[in-house]
Amino acid sequence: MSCSSRSLLDVGRQALDDLIRHAESGYPEEVCGFLIGVVVGEATRVTRIRPVRNMWSEDGVLVQDLTEALSDTDRAMEFAAAAATTRFAIDPREQLKVMREVRGESARIVGLYHSHPDHPAVPSGWDAEFAWEACSFAIASVLGGSFAELRSWRRVSGGTTMLEETILTTTP
Ligand SMILES: [Zn+2]
Repeated sequence: MSCSSRSLLDVGRQALDDLIRHAESGYPEEVCGFLIGVVVGEATRVTRIRPVRNMWSEDGVLVQDLTEALSDTDRAMEFAAAAATTRFAIDPREQLKVMREVRGESARIVGLYHSHPDHPAVPSGWDAEFAWEACSFAIASVLGGSFAELRSWRRVSGGTTMLEETILTTTP
């Protein structure tokens, strides 16, 4: 799959509703999950979402370990403070589980989504580091507990620049 700046993300109505519900119900925490679907030409069609837990919100030990691994104290403090609401991380075991779930289907993991509580649906510096190349990276902005907008991005190969992709909702 190429990282075309003209890529389209076609989000099915049910998948969009589920994503919005997940983002709102998790507020004020940041929630995350996988986009499951198929790639048809330039378009990535999302047929459903698969929520997974955000280790940053739920795994205090992981946050502490990673924070301690940073030698610079100031940076570590900043890291810990930001962790609870502005970071997300997916457990590789959950990722494997989802990959097994879709095995045998024509659908596969085509991207990631996460919410930005009280922040715009624009990638943070952390997001740009974390985003997978050649995968859609959708962000749902939730303001005061209510869904505001969904935007999707793709990381440019070999860098941390994120290009926005067009979202369509034509699939039922
Ligand atoms: Zn983010």
